[in-house]
Amino acid sequence: MRVLVTGGAGYVGSHMVATLLAASHDVVVLDDLSTGHRDAVGAGAELVEGDVGDTALVAALLRDRRIDAVCHFAAKIRVEESVSAPRLYWQGNVVRTLALLEAVLDAPTPPALVFSSTAAVYGTPDEVPIDEEHPKRPESPYGETKLAVERALESYGRAHGVRWAALRYFNAAGADAGAGLGERHEPETHLIPIVLDVALGARPSLAIYGTAWPTPDGTCIRDYVHVLDLADAHLAALHHLVRGGTSGAFNLGTGRGRSVREVVHAVERVTGRAVKVTEAPPRAGDPAELVAKVERAERVLGWKARRTELDAIVADAWAWKLRAKQG
Ligand code: UDP
Repeated sequence: MRVLVTGGAGYVGSHMVATLLAASHDVVVLDDLSTGHRDAVGAGAELVEGDVGDTALVAALLRDRRIDAVCHFAAKIRVEESVSAPRLYWQGNVVRTLALLEAVLDAPTPPALVFSSTAAVYGTPDEVPIDEEHPKRPESPYGETKLAVERALESYGRAHGVRWAALRYFNAAGADAGAGLGERHEPETHLIPIVLDVALGARPSLAIYGTAWPTPDGTCIRDYVHVLDLADAHLAALHHLVRGGTSGAFNLGTGRGRSVREVVHAVERVTGRAVKVTEAPPRAGDPAELVAKVERAERVLGWKARRTELDAIVADAWAWKLRAKQG
């Protein structure tokens, strides 16, 4: 396949590019490098520095590179920022994606589209594990904008035959350190890289957001899924769509929940270092527990997370931290 990867210089996108190249697909990356990193784009891919909202540019790429499928990762992803600066999210995630979709709709052979969505479309769940039919009540502009794009895909699919898959990631984690790829968010807000920074001595302590949640150890539970498993899921979704499979939304998780304290203990085991923690008030908008029901992706896409051991996920993220520290 010839695949256009928007946001291919970012965390999940760069792992996708590596996965596509390893499977001998042709890859064109479109990234404005606002948060991504040029050196994260695999050497075998073509990097076009530009805006996914530039319909003429995307139309030219679809036509000239004869693109079969698009993986659309480029987006703003910080929940708290979306609350204080929603226009960045409505413009960046919705308006730009609609502009990209204009090019898709008008392409001589419209490509299939795999969209990075999120568990944040559900909001606080009525029950866990969460299946794809669970009511959608996003609690931040970030979640709202991802859901809005899903809705656009649904209606464009119905009316115009666009083939699409929305992949709702739970908590992306891990790295492919051997390939020089990992998580590099600035500022970093995600749990595993923060705990690793504490182990590394780059931060004094981890503030645990809430220790009186209704969970066995009082801390929040999340479903951490390896970024390479996410990339494999995108590849499975591309094959599914290109073969004529039905469009739809799929949860991507492991189906297993881990508490903040379990993550801290995994980091201590993997690094052999003690992690200092402090107790902080709950963070606004954090639900107690988010765990995916993963049967649909397995049944329809034939995908299941394989790298599910928490210690192994943390070990991969640690290998990346050590490598990044060495420059
Ligand atoms: N968390 C925490 N301290 C931190 C960062 C995160 O206690 O400094 C908790 C957070 O409340 C959540 C879990 O770790 O329960 C995962 O948070 P993250 O920001 O990594 O992902 P999210 O689930 O918000 O997408």
